[in-house]
Amino acid sequence: MSTISADIVTSMRDRHARHIDRLPYTHVAGHLIGGEETTARGPRTPVIDPATGAGWGSVPEADAADVDAAVAAARTAQRAWAQRSPSERADLVRRMADAIESRADVLSLTNTFENGSPVAETAGAASNAAAILRVFASLAPHLEQGDVRAFPGGGNETVVAQDPIGVCALIAPWNFPINLVVIKLAPALIAGCTVVIKPAGPTPLSVRFLLDAADEAGIPAGVINIITGEGATGDLLVRHPGIDKVAFTGSTPVGRRIAAACGELLRPVTLELGGKSTALVLPDADLDAMSQVLIRSSMRNTGQTCYISTRLVTTPDRYDELVDMVTATVAAAPVGDPLDPETVFGPVATLAQRDRVLGYIRAGLTEGARATVGGDVAPPLPGGAFVAPTVFADVTPAMTIAREEIFGPVITLLRAPSVDAAVDIANGTAFGLGGIVFGGDEDVAFRIARRMDTGSVGVNMFASNHYAPFGGRHDSGLGVEYGLEGLSAYLTPQSVHRRAR
Ligand code: NAD
Repeated sequence: MSTISADIVTSMRDRHARHIDRLPYTHVAGHLIGGEETTARGPRTPVIDPATGAGWGSVPEADAADVDAAVAAARTAQRAWAQRSPSERADLVRRMADAIESRADVLSLTNTFENGSPVAETAGAASNAAAILRVFASLAPHLEQGDVRAFPGGGNETVVAQDPIGVCALIAPWNFPINLVVIKLAPALIAGCTVVIKPAGPTPLSVRFLLDAADEAGIPAGVINIITGEGATGDLLVRHPGIDKVAFTGSTPVGRRIAAACGELLRPVTLELGGKSTALVLPDADLDAMSQVLIRSSMRNTGQTCYISTRLVTTPDRYDELVDMVTATVAAAPVGDPLDPETVFGPVATLAQRDRVLGYIRAGLTEGARATVGGDVAPPLPGGAFVAPTVFADVTPAMTIAREEIFGPVITLLRAPSVDAAVDIANGTAFGLGGIVFGGDEDVAFRIARRMDTGSVGVNMFASNHYAPFGGRHDSGLGVEYGLEGLSAYLTPQSVHRRAR
């Protein structure tokens, strides 16, 4: 691992300050409601560059009156938006996709200064958002086709119509602040819903470029509204009587609270929550090929990706080889300034997250795991939220680091006596989000993949497909995003029964 000296920290601060000076959104006045920026009084939250610890922006914390105003604006806009045909909405969404791509650079920098994701990651945020918008635009014809179903006994028929579910609260975490909003926003727009977005506290500014792009595309004012704030604001939004559906991505404990509130209110909710996914390495796996995808599949975004496979499990015959490959691959990946295109590991998103991850590293050491790289509990440099990328070998399924989501650059390596035992270990957490099976015989690997108790699983690949559902089982969530299944979460059916024609 490369270490970062005090000189590099000073030059990083200067370099970041020069770039931040050119960003359009830093200290913003208010919330974006009904096409206007409000003037908010009340408390403000700073936006911190996690690489340097420097505050560079601030946003207001929305109170009950702000939440009321945002929901009212979305409600006012909803009827007219729903009355447009799906293909008209799709045209506007495609234009929005083009307008986002034209903002790729500034969006990438803002995102990197909010959460420390390396530019190698954030450079793709705009094109990924555009791709998602275009995929959902391509699904609009499904809403135009009438669905007529005969009664079982004949004679009568039912027209199954799909209505937009209404005004949606979109609540996002900080790890991918654009993508995790767009996978909710795109189906909502195509379905004819309007939205109030609440980004996570650390990442409140990059999401503004989505609204700029929507304005440029001609999406009417009030269809998309953005309010900023922390959990209290999110809670007000979830419980607001004018909200028809909640779409949430975030941690499992917060997801449970939201599910409880929505249960009480009988309010539809989609929950994309935490994960602790496993890469199962079969005896015939090609470890050279695996090393090419390892950082992305197990540590993407400095380990802050919900569906990466941070537990690696294999049989004793491949274990030492796997430890050597993972150790060498992680040790060779550059740690440093997220603004540097070569950087693989930037800081984690906040100092609080750094301390949380360091707590897990401490727990790993205390419980008897062996750090083959990293394992330093002292942060590698002061001020920033850096954590030394860490590989733990000799991990057992009972250890805290094998069971809980760490959400930082930490990999755990487990040994299983057989492939069946490895499947049991993979399925032995409270979560059920992702996973990968690495194996030479892809038919065998596919059959093992089908035994993984998770919403998604890759065979020799780490992937997601915007046309296919993505979601978690068990403590990883309720419902799915992406694909027609993701679109249907923003629709409510109406069955109109009539005499057959
Ligand atoms: P978090 O749960 O702390 O916060 C997520 C969002 O919820 C933020 O906007 C926050 O302000 C808001 N919030 C907090 N308390 C709330 C409340 N009581 N009511 C309403 N809103 C509230 O999560 P985080 O730390 O921002 O994100 C990391 C977590 O997100 C990890 O657990 C990760 O696995 C998960 N995640 C899941 C997926 C997925 O698709 N399954 C994707 C990315 C991240």
